[in-house]
Amino acid sequence: MALTQRQAARDGTITEEMERVATREQCPPETVREAIADGRAVIPANHGHDALDPMIVGADFATKVNANIGNSETTSDLATEREKLHAAVHYGADTVMDLGTGADLDEIREDHIARSPVPLGTVPIYEAVKRAGDPTDLSADQLLSVVEKQAEQGVDYMTIHAGILAEHLPLTESRTTGIVSRGGSIVATWMAEHGEQNPLFTVYDEICEIFATHDVTISLGDSLRPGCLADACDEAQYAELDVLGELTRRAWDHGVQVMVEGPGHVPMDRIADNVERQQRVCDGAPFYVLGPLVTDVAPGYDHITSAIGAAIAAQEGAAMLCYVTPKEHLGLPDRADVRDGLAAYRIAAHAGDVATGRPGARDWDDALSEARYAFDWSEQFALALDPDRAREFHDQTLPGDNYTDARFCSMCGVEFCSMRIDQDARDGSDIDALTAETDLSASSAAEVNRPPVGTHDGGCELGRGVDAVHPDEVGSADD
Ligand code: SF4
Repeated sequence: MALTQRQAARDGTITEEMERVATREQCPPETVREAIADGRAVIPANHGHDALDPMIVGADFATKVNANIGNSETTSDLATEREKLHAAVHYGADTVMDLGTGADLDEIREDHIARSPVPLGTVPIYEAVKRAGDPTDLSADQLLSVVEKQAEQGVDYMTIHAGILAEHLPLTESRTTGIVSRGGSIVATWMAEHGEQNPLFTVYDEICEIFATHDVTISLGDSLRPGCLADACDEAQYAELDVLGELTRRAWDHGVQVMVEGPGHVPMDRIADNVERQQRVCDGAPFYVLGPLVTDVAPGYDHITSAIGAAIAAQEGAAMLCYVTPKEHLGLPDRADVRDGLAAYRIAAHAGDVATGRPGARDWDDALSEARYAFDWSEQFALALDPDRAREFHDQTLPGDNYTDARFCSMCGVEFCSMRIDQDARDGSDIDALTAETDLSASSAAEVNRPPVGTHDGGCELGRGVDAVHPDEVGSADD
């Protein structure tokens, strides 16, 4: 039987996957092997996922970003899910979780595994519930059957909600938003109905044996993650975390790689505590966090509320960030939401890497800044986290070829471009010469963006209603 990455690492073997990861992370293969052997990192790489380009999740390596996709009972099909997978990989997801609960789950999953160069994760209890028809009709055998089938299909990691126990349920009664994890609420309902322990906990060793056979990485689900600031860091959350620490060590004993999932909704001042606690309780197993959202008041903008928390978590040692899209709490994300969520989280991950001084992380920022100061727009777009978005926004107001090397953009305009002014002060150029060589008449932006917008001749009139604002002016420097 093929070894898991953990088993190989503990035997002192550097696998092909470790070699590849070392190349991607620009570190010695031995550094990768040691991190895997110690449990401080995982390489989610099912033996059956042939299309995979291996990657690593661990606090000692670049912070990674996961994108959730998947259909629901009401929305989406194979073509749409394929498109979402493509968008997720295109916009920079390091892993993708298929959280589908709708039709054709096997067909979609197998299609994803055949195509995806990034690890694919699932939450098998969702499919088990679909098979059972009702959460209370679930059985341990059904759960094991679904886990085994998905492992055979080539799933690289699975969220297993084994840490929520029957004795935890009373701890949630005073919560503002109760149990917000989908898997957690299913397991809690089952335990309350049957008066028995969590079946995923009961058959945990059998799950580990299946995972060891296929080298599926276990992602220990945080069923009791807080769903609002009022419930953050409460007794229920930390009681489950203690169990997740025990389950981490049990999985390691089976040779299984482990990640641990984390909150949720946490105020900014408690995020460092959460990361430190997880690392201590789970012996350094990679922390895979959802956000956390740092405020509850911005539905429609929760990619931002959560990316703030994710950046702090990354700085404090979280290894992978599960993105949140603008549709969080509101609806199923579409392609545009995937793009916006991934941009927010890649920013958070990179900001964390810069803050922790990860070798090479700042080089990206410095290269873009140099291109920006040189007015090398092409290079600036190429280096941008989302090149298409950067070019699109620039060209909305300065679309012509004659602006590709312009020493200004429409935000401040030619006369007030601080970088141009600074450069001219350095080299003695004068504004009249610059203005003469620049064809402002080619763009309406030249009119609307001559600052201060709203005060110059022909600009916005005070008291004018929103409806009267020309579309070209939206997003200009007076916003
Ligand atoms: S016009 Fe303003 S925003 Fe645009 S390049 Fe110059 S300084 Fe930067």
